[in-house]
Amino acid sequence: MSSEEKSLNFIEEIIEADLASGKHQSITTRFPPEPNGYLHIGHAKSIVLNFGLALKYGGSTNLRFDDTNPVTEDTEYVESIKNDVKWLGFNWALELYASDYFDQLYAMALQLIDKGLAYVDDSTSEEIAAQKGTPTTPGIRNIYAERTPAENRTLFEAMKAGEFPDGAKVLRAKIDMESPNMLLRDPIIYRIKHAKHHRTGDKWCIYPMYDFAHGQSDSIEKITHSICTLEFVPHRPLYDWCIENLNTFPSKQYEFARLNMTYTVMSKRKLLQLVNEKIVHGWDDPRMSTISGMRRRGYPAAAIREFCDRIGVAKRDNLIDVGLLEFCVREELNKTALRRMVVFDPIKVIITNYTQASEALTSENNPENPNGGVRTVPFSKELWIEREDFMENPPKKYFRLAPGQMVRLKSAYIIKCEEVIKDDQGNIMALHCTYIPESKSGSDSSGIHVKGTLHWVSAAHAIQAEVRLYDRLFKVEDVANAEGDFKDHINPDSLQIISGAYAEPALANDPSGQAFQFLRKGYFVQDPDSNPAKLVFNRTVTLKDAWAKEVKKG
Ligand code: ATP
Ligand code: MG
Repeated sequence: MSSEEKSLNFIEEIIEADLASGKHQSITTRFPPEPNGYLHIGHAKSIVLNFGLALKYGGSTNLRFDDTNPVTEDTEYVESIKNDVKWLGFNWALELYASDYFDQLYAMALQLIDKGLAYVDDSTSEEIAAQKGTPTTPGIRNIYAERTPAENRTLFEAMKAGEFPDGAKVLRAKIDMESPNMLLRDPIIYRIKHAKHHRTGDKWCIYPMYDFAHGQSDSIEKITHSICTLEFVPHRPLYDWCIENLNTFPSKQYEFARLNMTYTVMSKRKLLQLVNEKIVHGWDDPRMSTISGMRRRGYPAAAIREFCDRIGVAKRDNLIDVGLLEFCVREELNKTALRRMVVFDPIKVIITNYTQASEALTSENNPENPNGGVRTVPFSKELWIEREDFMENPPKKYFRLAPGQMVRLKSAYIIKCEEVIKDDQGNIMALHCTYIPESKSGSDSSGIHVKGTLHWVSAAHAIQAEVRLYDRLFKVEDVANAEGDFKDHINPDSLQIISGAYAEPALANDPSGQAFQFLRKGYFVQDPDSNPAKLVFNRTVTLKDAWAKEVKKG
């Protein structure tokens, strides 16, 4: 299906109607992360949606840091977020900070006070909670709600001036203590917090609450379509109330289902726990659901964008199979990955009738890409092959190497196993083989047909490599809804390190960040830990979906 034929999602329908009716001449969206952690794949969904809509309809998207909570926020997170959005392939129109609006937001709060629509409340948080009522019983308004605008103004200014300790007073919007929507029962819009902010320093000791700051930041930026996740549906009346009573730009909020994915967690709070408790090696651990983790693991940005497009925009919460993301990764990497050979668990092959020192063979970089070119692969008398590609007593239909049996070495020759060399304990030390000189790939005149093709590396030319194999970080599908603590469900075998692998020499010269398919092994990328003396690779994804097979086997 071309994109024109694809049916519109409900947000696109709204936007097209707004543009057709002339309600808006163009659209402006925003991506509003709180800089209190690294972005994860759920954020990618929101990024692809917000930036994608603006691109589709010729509008623009702001990157706005929702930094109204001084305690949990940090510039490290700001930098990582900017880096991740860029890496995903998007450019924001403006880089903005809710904290830049603190003066304007303060002035707006004073407006509400002057209109008799906000009051300073001295109650403790317990008292406020008790007076709030329950969803079935109305709340009670306390005496502080009777303060005059002048009194409230003086008190609010004193709050700002730092005259009260944390928690001594709050500013509340005066809306409706009997509303069936608890969020409208005189919600707190400002609180006292004597804390240093990562951008405004010690300038403020009162900070706006999310609902007030978020909606009004949208209005200040003239956001036309403010897209958020479903848990904000009950917040929408408050969002609209603030806009109406402050008479600010009529931004509109629309909600879609947040992305949940199998075998992982996505809340920043939980991801932070995994980092702090050293269950993973940092935010960019390749097993994490973070964008930086996925990047380090080798997931291409294009695959993540494709995944976000494919899952669409749902109005009901659901759980997406991580297998779909891996499918998108494989599809992309199949087109772009350079084919290389790496032996993970080596066993030596000695070609007894090979008399040259070595020769330079060539092998294609990517059979999917006609312009992919070739690389040189050295061949010599002593080679490494995979231990599991040899069996001394093979069953029928075993097409790999066995005594007296022939296989093709990829892009090289057909070899035959003549003798198994063992040590005193009976361990296999090497395989003595012969090769068929006329069977050279590309000019094979041997007339011999073999069914098995093996990957291999010339022993004299091999580079030492460490290979890190990743599996799902959790053992259960729906981690958020599984019984007990989420950490009870950690998969203890999510990382397997193979330190004695041998890689073909071309890998020493390939640029970092380049995607590889190690023949018969999977897709890989160099890890930043890699160095010329020892290459380190992360397995991005297996060639096929091994997990699906496991599940079927039961
Ligand atoms: P978390 O719950 O993981 O801590 P958050 O919603 O608090 O995430 P924010 O930084 O506030 O994180 O989110 C920035 C934007 O990303 C918001 O618009 C939010 O709705 C969106 N977002 C966050 N998580 C998801 C998700 N799983 N699916 C879709 N959008 C998401
Ligand atoms: Mg949040």
